Order: sequence, then structure tokens, then C-alpha cells
Amino acid sequence: MQNLVEIKNDDNFVVDLMYAGMAHNMTGCPVYEEIGLGNHAYVHADLWNSLQKIIPYLHKTGRKLKIYEAWRPVLAHKRLFEIIPQDGFFIPDASCSPHCRATAIDVALIGADGKELEYPTLVDAYNDQYAKEVQTGKLDNFFEYLKKASFNYHDDTMFEAIKNRDELRKIMTDIGLVPVPRLHEWWHYELPDGRTDKYPLIDNFY
Ligand SMILES: [Zn+2]
Repeated sequence: MQNLVEIKNDDNFVVDLMYAGMAHNMTGCPVYEEIGLGNHAYVHADLWNSLQKIIPYLHKTGRKLKIYEAWRPVLAHKRLFEIIPQDGFFIPDASCSPHCRATAIDVALIGADGKELEYPTLVDAYNDQYAKEVQTGKLDNFFEYLKKASFNYHDDTMFEAIKNRDELRKIMTDIGLVPVPRLHEWWHYELPDGRTDKYPLIDNFY
């Protein structure tokens, strides 16, 4: 399947794609179920190889890497943009999203106690109230809240959350992935050349 490798639930990874279910989904629509992908996380083999390098860290700490988003079929991207067409949420052009090239991943760490570590926001800056607002086209409050998801957001009352965010950044960059500082997405990492023609868009999952 077009150099795609599936990340499966095991001792290292927990797959819970946010746009497959309803529990943690800013769009309120299980788009991946609708298109038949379901809760299956695929990444390009190059990204898969990078992720293997994180396993010694996971074993040493007893942690797991939770996968919230991986390859996003172009069809799914179009559907997500239809649901929330407002500027600044989903990129209108799927070719601008490395997720559609299977070269990006949205992640958070789960601690040895089985609970997700604390971060300045949830992944995708998910929040029940803002999700409802966003789905009705009201983004002002959400965008204000989204500032907390920036890499350089700082708040002395969030010491633990910011420490965890910075540690995630260290382990992900240590395995050769890069964040996108202009995005307010502490959870997003991608291959350094993941937006180039070396990795074409992948349309479907057949
Ligand atoms: Zn992402």
C-alpha cells in the first residue's frame, strides 16, 4: 500500500485517531469511519522507521506513544474542510498538509500509570465547549484558547504541563522529526522533508 505501514496497538503505541471517533473530535463527525478507514493509523515507511527509534525511550520510562492522527486520506481532508471551512482551521488545499502525504503524526505520551501526561491543552486543543462553537462557525474563543498550544506558550502555573510538552519535543526531535513552530500544535511532528514531492499525496486506502 504505497509505502504505508500501519501502526498497531502494542506495548509501544496506542492508536486512537481523533477523527475516527466522537470522544475527542473537534469536528463532531467520525469522518474516518464514514470513509471506511476507521481507527487505522498508517504512516509512510520513512516515518515508521523514525518512530522505531523512540522505542528504547518508551521501554525505559514505561510510557506509550498515543497516536491521535497519522495519514489523512485526501478524501478525508476534503470532508473535514467541508465540516469546518473557516480560515485557519484545516488548510483548504490538501497538498499543503503533510498528513495527506503520510509524513506527519499527532501524538501525546501516556505515562506508566496508563494516563495521558498533562499538557498545556489536549491534543487538537480539544475542548467540549470550543468544539461546539467551532462546529457552528464561531472560532474567536477557540483561537484565543489555541495560544496555549503554541510551543513558546508559557504560564508559571502550568509547570508540569510545559515540562511534558518540552520533553515530548526533545524525544521527537531526537528521532529526527520536526515540529512546525508557526502552527499552534505542540502535538504535531513531521519528517523534515515531509512536504516535498519526495512524498506524494496519497488519495485512498485501497
Ligand atoms: Zn498534525
